[in-house]
Amino acid sequence: MAHMMYQAFLIKYAEIAIKGKNRHLFEDALVSNIRQQLKRVDGSFTVRKENGRIYVETEGDYDYEETVEALQKIFGIVGICPVVLVEDNGFDALAADVVAHVDAAYPDKNFTFKVDARRARKNYPMNSMEINAALGEKILEAFPETRVDVHSPQVMVHVEIRPMINIYSTELPGQGGMPLGTAGRAMLLLSGGIDSPVAGYMVSRRGVSLEATYFHAPPYTSERAKQKVVDLAKKVAQYSGEIKLHIVNFTDIQMYIYEKCPHEELTIIMRRYMMKIAEHFANEGNCLGLVTGESIGQVASQTMQSLAVTNAVCTLPVYRPLIAMDKQDIVHVAEKIDTYETSILPYEDCCTIFVAKHPVTKPSLKHIEKSEMHLAEKIDELYQAAIETTETMVIEAE
Ligand code: ATP
Ligand code: MG
Repeated sequence: MAHMMYQAFLIKYAEIAIKGKNRHLFEDALVSNIRQQLKRVDGSFTVRKENGRIYVETEGDYDYEETVEALQKIFGIVGICPVVLVEDNGFDALAADVVAHVDAAYPDKNFTFKVDARRARKNYPMNSMEINAALGEKILEAFPETRVDVHSPQVMVHVEIRPMINIYSTELPGQGGMPLGTAGRAMLLLSGGIDSPVAGYMVSRRGVSLEATYFHAPPYTSERAKQKVVDLAKKVAQYSGEIKLHIVNFTDIQMYIYEKCPHEELTIIMRRYMMKIAEHFANEGNCLGLVTGESIGQVASQTMQSLAVTNAVCTLPVYRPLIAMDKQDIVHVAEKIDTYETSILPYEDCCTIFVAKHPVTKPSLKHIEKSEMHLAEKIDELYQAAIETTETMVIEAE
């Protein structure tokens, strides 16, 4: 396979390059994340930092597709260039290597190209313009069907004179974002729906490590509904790294609210208790914020009034990355990160079980707080019990 001529990948990262003094911290995080991610790929890899560059080098056989796929899941990488690294053995040797690269990478030679040479070390005996011209000529000589187009070439042959000479002509897109572990932790409220896995992915893409809390209501929600959430966490973990998942038994609290409060307020009051409990675990885990999959107007509990009332119980910031997104756009991301198919499996959700026909859409905080006074007798005890019976597990990427 033509791919196997590559023993290395040049990793491009942009956003982190502008981080001034913190730059090395970001690069080190990225290097460590790449190593971590490549553990799941067949092959032997070395990840190396060199003068503002990161290289992934392979030894022996490896799976090219799998390697690229793994690299494409790493936050902070903008581009992945399969690269040929050669020693500097003089211009003729370089020309032979460049011609061989073009030959192997493009079986069909009917294309336009341009050579883009850079010298990172200036002691090379030719300047960039001279290298461009001389290599262009060698390629034309070797493959008369090719043509030079300096304005919009189909193939840009990059030749960078560094300690090793880098030859590459493909840049595969990366995830962008910031390397994991560079921005602290957050607590995701993870349900089995479409939205919250996407929300977790989006925040994690900014370099944030995740924990998650899931509320279930056995026996009203099944073991399969819980498994679905575990499966979703595994999918998100492919990007975010391992996720500590807290599974809270919410049945008694839910039943108690159902018994004591107006039914049209059940959802909003329940959501407030979810936030409180999630915040408890967030503080315990040194998380700096909560993350939800809420989006303005999507359902009754997500009007701006409802969001304000839910928000009022929290002391940590609540991050809602989907707040202004349309459902269709959220679905696109869910498909891209492969959570969609799992999310649409038809298992019951604890929120939908006792839901009123006409939930309040414009709750006032005062009014809701008054309703919650009906819970005074037992709610602290139930809250404590929910926390004490919570099951915690560490979810790793599948
Ligand atoms: P999702 O698709 O994420 O389930 P949704 O459109 O169904 O969202 P809601 O059910 O109103 O919306 O939930 C809003 C947000 O509250 C969710 O995105 C999630 O962050 C959180 N949430 C809801 N139910 C649960 C649950 N059972 N466990 C944990 N978090 C939940
Ligand atoms: Mg839901």
